[in-house]
Amino acid sequence: MMGWPVKQSRAPIIHGYWIEKHGLDADFRLEAVPPDAFAEFLAHLAERGYVGGSATMPHKEMALKLTEPDARATAIGAANVIWLENGTLRSTNSDVVGFIAALDESAPGWDQHAEKAVVYGAGGAARAVVYGLLERGVARIHLHNRTLEKAEAFRERFGSKVIPTTTDELPAALAGAGLVVNAASFGMVGYPDLDVDLSTVRDDAVVADVVYVPLETGLLKKARARGLRVSDGLGMLLHQGTVCFEKWFGVHPVVTREQRARVEQALRNA
Ligand code: NAP
Repeated sequence: MMGWPVKQSRAPIIHGYWIEKHGLDADFRLEAVPPDAFAEFLAHLAERGYVGGSATMPHKEMALKLTEPDARATAIGAANVIWLENGTLRSTNSDVVGFIAALDESAPGWDQHAEKAVVYGAGGAARAVVYGLLERGVARIHLHNRTLEKAEAFRERFGSKVIPTTTDELPAALAGAGLVVNAASFGMVGYPDLDVDLSTVRDDAVVADVVYVPLETGLLKKARARGLRVSDGLGMLLHQGTVCFEKWFGVHPVVTREQRARVEQALRNA
């Protein structure tokens, strides 16, 4: 994994688990690569012995420019998985699959009554969330962000199913919503909790969070207290890893409870 900084990453636990499970003679390493060295590092990936890599902050936009991205990475504007295919560096964005697969696992059938979703945030994670929800046929996505112009830019990028929503418009947006997603930094250690009234969402609504430090955010606690099904950020993190692993090693791995427990333990010890 290439990042700056990178040492906080839990990816070695996730991929190390699958490397061991599949008996591969492989290694997953963290590489601290400063922004001005990223292009050179990527250009010599094969010489360094790599079949591919993942790009985290601040390299995701640069990774898109320096590789042959698929349609998904292009639409989102960021690539975080890179692999070598016949000498060409290709890339995709694994967060879409990660978010949707975690939802499918935690709340099967979530999309049956999710004509209307409310999403908070308009950064990188939100782009993947919105793209994934549109792919799955969600008809209306009310998008709220501290900086409204960024939500408006989403409408330009993804079309009229995305509805930039002000604070005053949120109560009407939440009423009858089938899905509520925090794709912003709310609830992360050092950030405020998301201030949301879940009393008027559908009784069978699902609440998802992309944040995984802490594992159980204030939003998820509130949703559980209201009796709603939830999907957490660690599920997303684990499932996006399946895309990376398959691209690098040609094996489709399975997210397991044992693996999740290992990452949870590491998060607790952090
Ligand atoms: P980003 O591009 O920097 O976007 C951050 C978003 O949070 C923006 O919408 C920003 O609003 C909002 N925000 C930040 N501080 C805020 C505050 N104090 N009050 C209100 N809104 C605030 O970051 P990102 O890459 O989207 O990451 C967001 C979160 O998703 C992080 O916690 C990250 O760890 C998590 N994530 C998880 C996964 C996973 O696999 N589970 C994958 C990717 C990201 P403005 O636009 O107004 O600044």
